Amino acid sequence: MLGILKGMATTMKHALDGETFTVKYPEEEPEVSPRFRGVHKFSQERCIWCRQCENVCPNDTIQIVMDDKRNGEQYNLHIGQCIYCRLCEEVCPVDAILLTQNFEFVGDTKDELAYNKEQLKNVPWYKDIDPLESREPDRSAWVGEGDGEVDYQ
Ligand code: SF4
Ligand code: SF4
Repeated sequence: MLGILKGMATTMKHALDGETFTVKYPEEEPEVSPRFRGVHKFSQERCIWCRQCENVCPNDTIQIVMDDKRNGEQYNLHIGQCIYCRLCEEVCPVDAILLTQNFEFVGDTKDELAYNKEQLKNVPWYKDIDPLESREPDRSAWVGEGDGEVDYQ
């Protein structure tokens, strides 16, 4: 009995202290953790076409097409089946992939969310994501090194 009363007291304390942990989405934008893993961005400028991301991906979200001289021709993303494990980002030796904090995209089927690199440039919820804003400051400083702007698609 005492346990029940203690439990109810704790519940009432939190119910009445005015603190809220939910937001009225989509009117209000929720804050996500700095470590949140959302849709990723790809930089052709950085990519050395080593295919490690394609090999490490557990469910074929990334598909790279090479020509006969092993130059990268296409970088295809089947975003609808990504599980946001971040393995591709971790394995990439040149930070050509960054998982951003964007989670706001929808499709009726996962196949609607399959894109090649050129198509991605025109996807409204994808093209305007700034990948560097999604990173911890020290990491973004490293990513921003080099001449000119880094072109993430
Ligand atoms: S986050 Fe995981 S599932 Fe998604 S593309 Fe990268 S390796 Fe594949
Ligand atoms: S791991 Fe990085 S450098 Fe290698 S193919 Fe993937 S994106 Fe390009």
